Amino acid sequence: MLLSLSTADRPATDLGFLLHKHPDRFQTFDLSFGKAHVYYPEVDADRCTACLLLDVDAVGMVRGKNPDQSFLLGQYVNDRPYAASSFMSVAIAQVFGSALQGRCKDRPELVAAPLPLEARLDVLSVRGGEAVLRGMFEPLGYEVEAVRHPLDDRFPEWGESPYFSVAVRKTTTLSELLTHLYVLIPVFDTRKHYFVGDDETEKLLAKGEGWLARHPQKEEIARRYLRFQPSLYRMALSRLVLEEEPVEGEDETPEKQKAEESLEKPLSLNDQRLMSVVAALRSGGAKRVLDLGCGEGKLIRELLKDRQMDEILGMDVSVRTLEVAARRLKLERLPDHQANRVKLIHGSLMYRDRRLEGFDAAAVVEVVEHLDPPRLKAFERVLFEFAKPRTVVLTTPNREYNVTWDTLPAGQFRHADHRFEWTRQEFQDWATGIATRFGYAVRFLPVGPEDKALGPPTQLGVFERG
Ligand code: SAH
Repeated sequence: MLLSLSTADRPATDLGFLLHKHPDRFQTFDLSFGKAHVYYPEVDADRCTACLLLDVDAVGMVRGKNPDQSFLLGQYVNDRPYAASSFMSVAIAQVFGSALQGRCKDRPELVAAPLPLEARLDVLSVRGGEAVLRGMFEPLGYEVEAVRHPLDDRFPEWGESPYFSVAVRKTTTLSELLTHLYVLIPVFDTRKHYFVGDDETEKLLAKGEGWLARHPQKEEIARRYLRFQPSLYRMALSRLVLEEEPVEGEDETPEKQKAEESLEKPLSLNDQRLMSVVAALRSGGAKRVLDLGCGEGKLIRELLKDRQMDEILGMDVSVRTLEVAARRLKLERLPDHQANRVKLIHGSLMYRDRRLEGFDAAAVVEVVEHLDPPRLKAFERVLFEFAKPRTVVLTTPNREYNVTWDTLPAGQFRHADHRFEWTRQEFQDWATGIATRFGYAVRFLPVGPEDKALGPPTQLGVFERG
């Protein structure tokens, strides 16, 4: 398998400095799974190409220290020597390590300068075909050219193979190109990753810094990169969501949240909301309660005052927020019998989570509007299909009410992180759809002073499992 890196920037031979490999030499490196050769098939001022050729020793690996005994014939007959896979990523890291990290001892000024670069892979096995290939590279700004190879050109009736010759082009730094290749090459191929270990999540997050959190396919990338190991994958993703949050100062209440609070303050809407939620949970007779997206623990504080509640589990995707919650609830200083009633856990509502099963009720207060619409479906199943508490109390803003706030420009949401805000009709349609699908009955309650035409500022749905 072959990775060719080219540039046409003048002088193109700078590529040799950036890769730390002299264009005049043919070099060979020993790797744990075979050999890597580096050479330059074209070197002139207009265009320069460096090749990384991997010679994977499939047989040597079987006989080596950690032979994979899972499928004996597969050890000898496989595409590892020919198709780019995680081996290529390992080779990039080992042979082009400085370039990958953006270091250049001799010519440091070259590192940050974007170059017109092209990377060719011969060949890449792409599960899911060209659409997957484009879906991964194009959002990162690459132009993609892909040629699919037939299984055997003498037997066209056998159809296409999963193998592609792929070229991607972009004007960028060499370090960025190598980073994207490092992460994405193993993603295309769904075979067992040569190196899936605990530190794989760290590698993914480190190499994904600055781009993966914004990639529309980040879930698929993490899922494939971590080879469907749900625990690693979940951990990686919940951390990616965190990475997306803007960095905030020491202030515990971020500015944008303050804006929402001050907007709603004259009504003390927040308090009214909490009281309505507590009342709805109480009247359903709940003793063991989930607070999903618990934030800084305002609802938990109210629930703790209520003797009816034996067990309260707060979950949030943000570790920082959970730390604030633990501090504000003074969990460390509560007497044991109180502290034992509360637990805070880190988790994401995007993933099925056994820890959420077996509760009487769940509160989801001002959370759904923070979820990306395409991910709502996952949330719906996580809560109503898998966790399935008897009662769910869910609140969300009523968008119609926003016009009553002079300080909120038309068309804007109440909070910078809101992905949407629903009208009463939209919320009720959504909630009724869920109730029908998952076997719940739902009723709606207003929260806050109701405007005749526009309704209440907050809408609340109480779902009861039939
Ligand atoms: N329920 C709290 C906080 C509402 S703010 C209150 O009423 O005060 C929304 C909260 O949802 C934030 O704390 C945010 O971190 C959390 N959140 C956003 N996406 C989430 C997800 N996928 N899983 C769990 N929590 C999430």
